[in-house]
Amino acid sequence: MSKSDYYELLGVERGADENELKKAYRKLAMKYHPDRNPDNAEAEAKFKEVNEAYEVLSDPEKRRLYDQFGHAGVNQNGGAGGGFSGFDGFGGFEDIINEMFGGFGGFSSSSSRRNGPRKGADIRADITLTFEEAAFGVKKKIEFLRTEECDVCNGAGNEPGTSSHTCTACNGKGEVRYSQRSLFGESISVKPCTACKGKGEIFDKPCHQCKGHGKIKKRNSKEVDIPAGVFHGANMQLRGEGDLGQNGGPRGDVIVVIRVTPHKHFTRDGNDIYYDLNITYAQAVLGAEVMVPTLDGKAKFVIPEGTPSGKQFKLKGKGVPVLNGYGRGDQYVRVIVEIPKGLNKKQKELLEAFEAEMTGKKTSHSGTEENLKSKKKNDKGFLGKMKDALS
Ligand SMILES: [Zn+2]
Ligand SMILES: [Zn+2]
Repeated sequence: MSKSDYYELLGVERGADENELKKAYRKLAMKYHPDRNPDNAEAEAKFKEVNEAYEVLSDPEKRRLYDQFGHAGVNQNGGAGGGFSGFDGFGGFEDIINEMFGGFGGFSSSSSRRNGPRKGADIRADITLTFEEAAFGVKKKIEFLRTEECDVCNGAGNEPGTSSHTCTACNGKGEVRYSQRSLFGESISVKPCTACKGKGEIFDKPCHQCKGHGKIKKRNSKEVDIPAGVFHGANMQLRGEGDLGQNGGPRGDVIVVIRVTPHKHFTRDGNDIYYDLNITYAQAVLGAEVMVPTLDGKAKFVIPEGTPSGKQFKLKGKGVPVLNGYGRGDQYVRVIVEIPKGLNKKQKELLEAFEAEMTGKKTSHSGTEENLKSKKKNDKGFLGKMKDALS
């Protein structure tokens, strides 16, 4: 029996776009759905055909093959397609079906495309970087477990040299259909075959290494090029490095999750970094030249005379490089003036003298004013002495 043309089946033009296809399919699937046509073999056959047509035409790659080679292009039994396998009438449509029928038709997700190609699972791999590694990028080796084809049975699942036979419970389909009565009438349920666990065949002797799965977990390592400027919590996707796909489907991905350890000096906000610089009271008042840490090593930093505590200075371009971009953020130096505690007698006297000098008042300390006068003559200067005393 020759097959109907998929476009004719759905009643669309050959150039129909995704929306037109979906609309046409939805209409016909509603019309022929088994829930609405109990015990109607003709409707069921039509429903299958419509599903098959939609499965092919809604997939750009299958549609291309179909346009080029016709049914031979997308039929599992030969032709240029060959890549995807048999169609059982219900696979892969649960989103649309559930949308239309609220899911009560029993099209469980486990029944979807059991025999079709499916992408393998993604694997998460955490990686911990130092602050500097995150800033400037680094090559890091990650290790993870992923499924590989079993090297004893080459993925077949049965012990080499033994054979397998088609499951009689499901006739090799891997799933069993049940008729169910519900509030809405009779519905069809599709469930994985328990006898063969959905594989469609039963091994006379399962492979001793993979226990019949055809796959085993193996340790794998990969060098990852971490770009400059990555941040804590960022993800990197390594396409096609994850678990083996099913029925010829592509491998999953490895998702690298970046963690960055805190820095002893810096905090980071975007591409800018922040550094708290503790200075003495005298340094704040008189100004000073100090060394501050930067991502590029120590750098000279000039504290201007009369710097209040909390004032922030910008070191332009000393921040983190922009991820996948150009330039760098800035470094902010926040000055924290430390107030000295537990001063000795001489230090206290000097401070009191300083206070008196500033306010023009006498202090309670006797002789301070006299001292002050003599000290003023000193070539080091009053503030210079203060600095010596407090630093
Ligand atoms: Zn094996
Ligand atoms: Zn079976």
